[in-house]
Amino acid sequence: MYSIINSLPKAEHHIHLVGSIRPETLLWVADESGLDSQWDSVDDVREFFKFSDFPHFLKVFGTCMAYITKESMFERIAYETLEDQASQNVLHSEIIFSAPQRMKTAGMDFALMMDALNRGIDRAQREFAVTCSTRVDLIRDYGPDYQMEVLDQILEHPEGIVGIEIGGSEYDYPPAQFKAVYDRARGMGLRLVAHAGEALGWESVVDAIECLGVERIGHGLTAQNSPEAVKLLKEKGVTVETCPVSNVRTGVCKDIKSHPVRQYYDQGISISVNSDDPTMFGTDMNNEYMTLHEVHGFTVAELFDISLNSVRTSFLSEEKKREQLVEFRGRYEKISELLE
Ligand SMILES: [Zn+2]
Repeated sequence: MYSIINSLPKAEHHIHLVGSIRPETLLWVADESGLDSQWDSVDDVREFFKFSDFPHFLKVFGTCMAYITKESMFERIAYETLEDQASQNVLHSEIIFSAPQRMKTAGMDFALMMDALNRGIDRAQREFAVTCSTRVDLIRDYGPDYQMEVLDQILEHPEGIVGIEIGGSEYDYPPAQFKAVYDRARGMGLRLVAHAGEALGWESVVDAIECLGVERIGHGLTAQNSPEAVKLLKEKGVTVETCPVSNVRTGVCKDIKSHPVRQYYDQGISISVNSDDPTMFGTDMNNEYMTLHEVHGFTVAELFDISLNSVRTSFLSEEKKREQLVEFRGRYEKISELLE
């Protein structure tokens, strides 16, 4: 089964760049950073990636970020992320780039970061025949005034950026206050996503849709508790970027069995399946699909259906989507022949 799942073509909507850093690369980053490293080995890093709860996870993520002291480091991280994606037949990835964190706390240059990121992405796209686009996480904790400054930067350096979103502390910063930022981003032609319904209740999902006008919701876990939120997701055709393993690792969901991914799929909500911060959570797309198969009984055909939906609801151009759908179906036909 694992080899069938590995060969299934996949697309991912929700993968944080720094959350996909290889432990070896984090050691390299710490070494190059000029700061005192707190890890001596890959095992130390893996131990560091064990989280007690969601705030603890955010703290760990922030610590890893702090070691990225040179804009150029993002090139290697991006390239390796896509190499790891390609090895699992993830043919399209939409990565989340928390650039503002490094601008705000380390004074890094947005254009230099984007140049490095795009160099890594370009090289990987050529070598591995995958596609990738970037959305910038404006990070709720920094507030709307600073986020407007980030939008100024995106306006000046739009290369490779398809959208924006807000991650960070959902609990302390519910969606509604970011309306003006989202309105401006929409006017700039950027696609709109928000982490919502991960640390807060279903109202956060409703607000992200109604106040911010998002097309996709990151996590959307708590929408399961409200028929109103489920109805709204369906009516507006909003895709929920589910991140099952992540939700268990950060403790926002008790176990995989209680995760609403099966319920959402059966209710006809548009979903994608995602690894979120794969190396930090000890997961990847193969593991997410495998887990869905084992715990929620998703068949290969259903998993492929999710793959197709992830392409259809991606931020690729219509032309690229058509091309990818043909590629996906072609590969699936070959897999189906083997299954018979
Ligand atoms: Zn996320």
